[in-house]
Amino acid sequence: MLARGSKKPKWMRDIAKERVDILFNLAMKEFSKNSSRSHRYVELARNISKKYNIKIPKKWNRSYCKTCYNFLLLGENSNVRLVSSEVHIKCHECNNVMIIPYKKEKKLKRRSKINAYINKKKN
Ligand SMILES: [Zn+2]
Repeated sequence: MLARGSKKPKWMRDIAKERVDILFNLAMKEFSKNSSRSHRYVELARNISKKYNIKIPKKWNRSYCKTCYNFLLLGENSNVRLVSSEVHIKCHECNNVMIIPYKKEKKLKRRSKINAYINKKKN
């Protein structure tokens, strides 16, 4: 038997993680048709993550607003700007700007270097 307040078993948390992923996928699909429904999916995903003490997968980290918890689709109700060494994601639902340090984005940085190099060549 499980003691009260202890962590849920791993298999349960694995299922929960899968559900969170499914909910975000649904949110993305539904957004263009019914944005309020996709906001609701984020809410459900968050409830699951709290209940099972799991993190929202990194790949969905930018797909919801940390302030109003609405689903965010880049170019639709959010936009991204690079400001010096930070990524600024603006939520158009509540106008909050989330700031993510750019250092973690090594891949992106490398890509932009390559692009800069390509552009130089073109000129
Ligand atoms: Zn927001």
